[in-house]
Amino acid sequence: MTPDAQPLISVVVAGAGGRMGREVVDAVTSAPDLHLAGTAGAGDDLAALLAQTRPAALVDFTVPEAVLGNIHTALAQRVVPIVGTTGLGLDSIAQVRAWCAAHKTGAIIAPNFAIGAILMMRFAAQAARYLPDAEIVEMHHERKLDAPSGTAAKTAEMIAEGRADVVPTALPADAFEKIAGARGGRGAGSVPIHSVRLPGFVASQMVIFGGLGQTLTLRHDSLDRKSFMPGVLLAVRHAPALQSGQAELIYGLEHLL
Ligand code: NAP
Repeated sequence: MTPDAQPLISVVVAGAGGRMGREVVDAVTSAPDLHLAGTAGAGDDLAALLAQTRPAALVDFTVPEAVLGNIHTALAQRVVPIVGTTGLGLDSIAQVRAWCAAHKTGAIIAPNFAIGAILMMRFAAQAARYLPDAEIVEMHHERKLDAPSGTAAKTAEMIAEGRADVVPTALPADAFEKIAGARGGRGAGSVPIHSVRLPGFVASQMVIFGGLGQTLTLRHDSLDRKSFMPGVLLAVRHAPALQSGQAELIYGLEHLL
């Protein structure tokens, strides 16, 4: 129990041996109001661990192939999945929403748990209304598996919503790429996304807006994986509410700020 007699929030971490998982284990262990009930790695029986430890939340920083199964395993036991693993498409998000309703338990999926990155996305949506021409450049470490990043895909969605009433400038109809992919991939609203993968980066993103005689660049850098932990703990502390009545999927940390 915490000093003011609140019960501890009990947490299991999946992917606990990974780069992010290790930080989550440290952060949960150091938080006086949280209890680390267990950890799971590849090959462990997550369902049995959850049945045995009965946590409020499962924090998942694993791999795209495992995350959907882990979410279902958690919801089936009324454990709230707090998901940082990226690479889930819109179909998977819809699937998780349906599972939340079926199992009467909520979930949180956040493509980015860094609060500074959430602010960057919010400011990008605001800027897009006035400067609708925008491109995203995201930069991550060389071992990141998926591209573009979940943050870049979500930023494109937010830019598309922000500029819904404005028409971006069309490129010349005869513009072409001399090297395939030189103009990047296309996110929501056809916003170009360029993914850089280099040693040295943790997670960075620039959103560049162009206007008449001016540009505006928004940039966020996660310099250390600790940058994600305040957001992860914020989500974990919301888990009890999602176990008792609020059976919805919260997609994006911005909804908790
Ligand atoms: P990582 O170092 O490769 O760690 C992934 C871990 O997951 C590994 O320890 C792996 O174990 C484990 N794993 C694989 N399958 C599993 C399963 N079925 N059950 C439990 N554990 C399993 O990767 P990372 O850098 O920590 O990143 C993890 C994910 O978080 C990625 O999708 C990344 O994009 C995302 N991410 C999100 C945020 C955010 O703010 N939302 C921030 C940073 C990263 P083995 O090593 O034994 O295979």
